[in-house]
Amino acid sequence: MSRYLNASLQALEAYVPGEQPRDQRYIKLNTNESPYPPAPSVCSAIGEEDVALLRLYSDPTGKNLKEKLAGLYGVKPENVFLSNGSDEVLNFAFLAFGGKGAVFPDISYGFYSVFADLYGIDYTQIPLKEDFSLDYRDYCGQGKLVVIANPNAPTGLSIPVDAVEKMAASNPDNVVIIDEAYVDFGGETALPLIEKYDNLLVTRTFSKSRCLAGGRLGYAFGAPALIADLEKIKYSTNPYNLDRLTLQLGEATVDAEDYYRQMCVRIQETRAWTRDRLEQLGFQVLPSRTNFLFARTDRVDGGELYRMLKERGILVRHFANPRICQFNRITIGTPEDMATLIGVLKDILGGC
Ligand code: PMP
Repeated sequence: MSRYLNASLQALEAYVPGEQPRDQRYIKLNTNESPYPPAPSVCSAIGEEDVALLRLYSDPTGKNLKEKLAGLYGVKPENVFLSNGSDEVLNFAFLAFGGKGAVFPDISYGFYSVFADLYGIDYTQIPLKEDFSLDYRDYCGQGKLVVIANPNAPTGLSIPVDAVEKMAASNPDNVVIIDEAYVDFGGETALPLIEKYDNLLVTRTFSKSRCLAGGRLGYAFGAPALIADLEKIKYSTNPYNLDRLTLQLGEATVDAEDYYRQMCVRIQETRAWTRDRLEQLGFQVLPSRTNFLFARTDRVDGGELYRMLKERGILVRHFANPRICQFNRITIGTPEDMATLIGVLKDILGGC
């Protein structure tokens, strides 16, 4: 830290992303990326002439991609915000709507508390129940920004849309953010509610179900006035937040919707297979609506299991938080990846 950093930022603890090893030695099940490539039409969407056009700025309005997303989801382009990954729209939303404080669960996406700290937002983390389920009543009438990942990470559990509706209805003077990064793997979307609740912001990403984590493309749906607030922040920080190539890949991705639906089905099938095998090995596995499983065993300490898997070439995600330190979060890879994981776990547990 330099002596020039603003005093207000000196104690900030930055978000720590999952390991991104540059070599290919690992079966990488630690950051919930897709094991499948983008659709063939997306892989061939960019040519030399597109790269040559990088001399020009990108479209700051993202008009074409907004129109395509609006068409796909049956909303208007004014209901759509585009961002550099969904982390960016979450960032903007904390800045825009966190003035009266924020509430979110104690076990959820670790970036929420970082954004709150960054902007000096007073926040409360409400404990999930013993079984990690969420009681929507804890978030009703809070009078603060409410932030819920649905399905949740790292637990993988989801809440029904009527619970979201109760939260939105009971917080009419505050924004309720529903982070739907994983919704395409079996969650229930709150999107239809944006018509009825002008305080509801639904955030999404191309990083998981759309196999484009490295493209950094996120989006959000909300009432036109909410979207305008986010645009104001974008135009006050980085108007060209999405580059030309990413916008183009995003459009090609929306055009290939059928491919991505098939990939989601594959991942759900592999998830069911993996869950069965883990349970046969004696793991407790939470019922997941995402592209990962959250699992623990009494036979090996969670942190130790993470290290043993890493030594054997498999990366999973372990969190030091005492409530969940016996668990590991395991991204669903290809069927072959998961068969390898199960084989390695059998070896490890056989020696315990
Ligand atoms: N929300 C949740 C719950 C996540 O797990 C992630 C991925 N780390 C994100 C948002 C952000 O993803 P991205 O910025 O790649 O869209």
